[in-house]
Amino acid sequence: MNTRIIPISNPEKQEAELRYAAKILCAGGLVAFPTETVYGLGGNGLDDGAAKKIYAAKGRPSDNPLIIHIAAPEDADRYAVVNNTYRRLAKAFMPGPLTVVLPKREMIPPSVTGGLDTVAVRCPSHPVAHKLIALAGVPIAAPSANLSGKPSPTCAEHVIADLSGRVDAILDGGSCEIGLESTIVKVDGEDEITLLRPGGITYDALCMVVSTVHIAPAVTHALAENERPLSPGMKYRHYAPNIPVVLLSGAPEKVTAFLAAEQTTKKCAILCYNEELPFLQNDLLFPVGNREDLAAQAQTLFKLLREADRTGAEVIYAHLPPKSGLGLALYNRMIRAAAHTIKEI
Ligand code: AMP
Ligand code: MG
Repeated sequence: MNTRIIPISNPEKQEAELRYAAKILCAGGLVAFPTETVYGLGGNGLDDGAAKKIYAAKGRPSDNPLIIHIAAPEDADRYAVVNNTYRRLAKAFMPGPLTVVLPKREMIPPSVTGGLDTVAVRCPSHPVAHKLIALAGVPIAAPSANLSGKPSPTCAEHVIADLSGRVDAILDGGSCEIGLESTIVKVDGEDEITLLRPGGITYDALCMVVSTVHIAPAVTHALAENERPLSPGMKYRHYAPNIPVVLLSGAPEKVTAFLAAEQTTKKCAILCYNEELPFLQNDLLFPVGNREDLAAQAQTLFKLLREADRTGAEVIYAHLPPKSGLGLALYNRMIRAAAHTIKEI
């Protein structure tokens, strides 16, 4: 398949580019597009055939459901059964990086939801994503636009590397602002939700709006064999480079000293903090940002994992993030990239 790469230009010319892309979606084709979280691989969310094409293009297991993207929060009502908890979450966080799992309506094909009777709904704030969905006039089913198992794409180059020749078009809208996938919550009842995947909307922010916020065990722990996660995506190895990733935990100066020593004995790629640069050899270093700047780390994590994976190093070292604030989302992605390998220093 010939994949058209479409650079998104200024808002006047954009209209024609996005109309063209919307037409592809309405005809059952696939278009990758930028959002504020990561790039999505979109297809018509009402079209069983388009959903199947998404799974095939990504090499994604068909029991790992897709998120449907809508142009306005109130559109959720057409595709899912909403309640007041959804409305309150929508008022606080939409458009934005929050996905809400709700009971699905008939019109959403089972292929989109991996056979579940619930559907995940998100209203992105990225202007290109928003316009594309509005022009298509249908909900857009879109998982992240990477090959299954690879880190999510945070710029068009990542999508091109993974999906060129496998999709109809890729819209190039530059780098994604947040850099980690959306926060996913499941509505359990009135005023009660479960956090299935942490993201840009933090646990603390959710607690400001909903009285009871549970955290699904798979957010922070490895699943036991045969354990069924609340979100099917949690069971898959994910975000994972080919080179083994080891997360380091311990007092900052001790961890930095460990890294410096490791550099003398083996070829290691290091996702380090800016503050550590003076103490390490300038070899295969991938600075993630300042130690306290979790937003910067979120924005660069997937890009740096991809780059570190190309070094041919023996091992990729990174820091174990804190579990507070945006750190929980980083922690969740990192422990899965590292297949839960944590080294205490
Ligand atoms: P991705 O867009 O690639 O991050 O994948 C979508 C994520 O949403 C996966 O982790 C899915 O398991 C999750 N998801 C989608 N629909 C549902 C649903 N109905 N219930 C629980 N999790 C869902
Ligand atoms: Mg994904």
